[in-house]
Amino acid sequence: MSEPSPPTAPRPDLRDLTREELRTFVATLGEPSFRGDQIFRWLWKRGARSFDAMTDLPPALRAKLATTAAIGSVEAARIDVSGDGTRKFLVRLSDLRDVESVLIPEGDRMTLCISSQVGCALACQFCATGTMGLLRNLTPSEIAGQVLLAHEELLARPHGGHPDRDRPITNLVYMGMGEPLHNYDNVLASLRILTDEQGLGYPPRRITVSTVGLVPQMSALGEAIAVNLAVSLHAPNDDVRGSIMPINRKWPMAALLAACREFPLGTRRRITFEYVLLAGVNDQLAHAEELAHALEGLRCKVNLIPWNEHAGAAFTRPTMVAVRAFEQRLMLLGVDTTVRTTRGRDIDAACGQLALSNRGATRA
Ligand code: SF4
Repeated sequence: MSEPSPPTAPRPDLRDLTREELRTFVATLGEPSFRGDQIFRWLWKRGARSFDAMTDLPPALRAKLATTAAIGSVEAARIDVSGDGTRKFLVRLSDLRDVESVLIPEGDRMTLCISSQVGCALACQFCATGTMGLLRNLTPSEIAGQVLLAHEELLARPHGGHPDRDRPITNLVYMGMGEPLHNYDNVLASLRILTDEQGLGYPPRRITVSTVGLVPQMSALGEAIAVNLAVSLHAPNDDVRGSIMPINRKWPMAALLAACREFPLGTRRRITFEYVLLAGVNDQLAHAEELAHALEGLRCKVNLIPWNEHAGAAFTRPTMVAVRAFEQRLMLLGVDTTVRTTRGRDIDAACGQLALSNRGATRA
């Protein structure tokens, strides 16, 4: 009887690698490092899905790559288009798990919101994704691949039925499923890939990473790359925040706001504080006053998000009168404030909702 053959190591996904790492990888194959630059451009600028497509590489190298490496990609299991032009992607990963991306046309901008984890460990009480727990981290390839997928969709259907919404992606936000800084290494690698001028070349100032406030990773991110930061604050004090966001026990508001004050902002940027308004929980005028006081001296703006009700949720949406009163009180106290109109409500485009509503079809 012949011996069973030993398991073969999985081939590395070259889309997980920054350009620097690709240069190192090709060196291990005995190739000059500029081949790494060439492959990087094929992967990210030209969206190549096979090594055969990389026609300016020597055939022998293409053959070698085909046996030693892989090109990862994510697929759109479904794309829903909202009446307001928002397009929501149910993104299928190679293990048949799903996450979501949302393409949002707004004024001159086309913003793509991408996911960083399948599910999320942080269990914010108001968040649909938080009920799933963390299933796994996305790889750099899967995070940045969501951008390629949206590019392909925009090439195939430039305006998606909305001729006035025909424009390329201008902004990226890491605000989909998951806590980006809980998957720090892969998120940072994806940022290096997406901002590389030999690839998609997004300027860091057009990218926003959101966090519930993982303090050490916030500092590390600020030192590593000059992207924008959005902090999910959602409360004016530790009592309220602790009751809806378990992370507040580990990193209370004083530590979080100190990290915000130290976050390097350059000359023109400011931190965005996200604040979901939950009726009777954090939407009182006294809360607005306490919030304005807590944010004193910070270069920031507050983005109010009236709670988007979904089946099974324990919260209710405040009236628009209450939302406007909260906004006005903050403005009166000198805090730049906007109210986010929820885009794509008819296609469930709030955080985590599409992937949740498809869980029955998802093999986990
Ligand atoms: S709000 Fe963000 S951090 Fe909190 S559970 Fe949802 S995805 Fe996770």
